[in-house]
Amino acid sequence: MRLENLLLSVCGAASLALVLGSAAIIPTGAVAHEDDLHCAAVIASVAEAGFADEVAVECESGQAVLTSYTYPDHDLMTGIVGTNEQIPVPANAYAAPIPLQPVLGTTPQTRDAALGVAVNGVPIYDYTGGGEMSIADLSDHQAQNDTLLTQQLDVCGGHAGRGDDYHYHVKPVCMIAQMKNAGDDAIIGWAYDGFPIYGDNNPDGTPIAAAVLDDCNGQPDGTFGYRYHTSTDAPYIVQCLMGGVANMEQLPSVAPLTPAVGGRGMEPGRPPRGGVDGLTFTQDASGLRSMDYSYEGEAYYMRYTPSQTPNCYTYETRTVTNGGDIATGEYCR
Ligand SMILES: [Zn+2]
Repeated sequence: MRLENLLLSVCGAASLALVLGSAAIIPTGAVAHEDDLHCAAVIASVAEAGFADEVAVECESGQAVLTSYTYPDHDLMTGIVGTNEQIPVPANAYAAPIPLQPVLGTTPQTRDAALGVAVNGVPIYDYTGGGEMSIADLSDHQAQNDTLLTQQLDVCGGHAGRGDDYHYHVKPVCMIAQMKNAGDDAIIGWAYDGFPIYGDNNPDGTPIAAAVLDDCNGQPDGTFGYRYHTSTDAPYIVQCLMGGVANMEQLPSVAPLTPAVGGRGMEPGRPPRGGVDGLTFTQDASGLRSMDYSYEGEAYYMRYTPSQTPNCYTYETRTVTNGGDIATGEYCR
């Protein structure tokens, strides 16, 4: 029996009682999902996509925890114009907690950090950059903060954030192209309220009718009670959490690297006005990673190689943010 059929047979009856189009209702007494079934679904989503070597999944204490380096094995940073002068560096054991008994709440929750994680272990943010969306912002497209429209994203739908942490802000198209089970019925990620994220269509392959998705880009689901989607238009991917989260403050985020000698970390990059030209990111066998670009005819770069200390890197940068001065140093996760 296929996993989804098994899940449907156990959970379908309760979930069908969901009121279509209403904000957040699970029928009284209904259990959205059994712990072990939900755990199996999370493990299967990673394994069937082909990412079991990059993402560890362990279920404990009512959560499935996906642990990864948040550093995908696909093209990175290509196509970015509105760079924030941050370069992707692997995170140490980023641990993404997915509740095993998701329950819809009544108020959408927003966060200036990841709202979920893709099945390849890369965090998923809402589409905006540089600050938390308010509840009022959810129904009103934030064009000026739209990371896609302002060309802050690479061709894969991601970029490096203030912690030099790679993450997605829209549909992760390069990851989806890598998925062994790519298709409308494949789960592409999990939100931090425990509900799954699917692509642009319903899992049965039918298109999603206009105005069906709610503010968080989700809708009721026969298997899980609720599910999120990606979309061609804003908000592109989950932009708020419709389900409950025990403690939003305890959800993971990736901190900026700190100097090996102690003291304050690097100042966050500031996007050069008007964007940069010809940004490329390369990696070679020695571990050197380089981001090169030009701004107003001048060449700039950010480079690092692993240092002698685990999780530490020797940096050399020439950034617009830093006035074109060459800076060097050892920085650590
Ligand atoms: Zn970002």
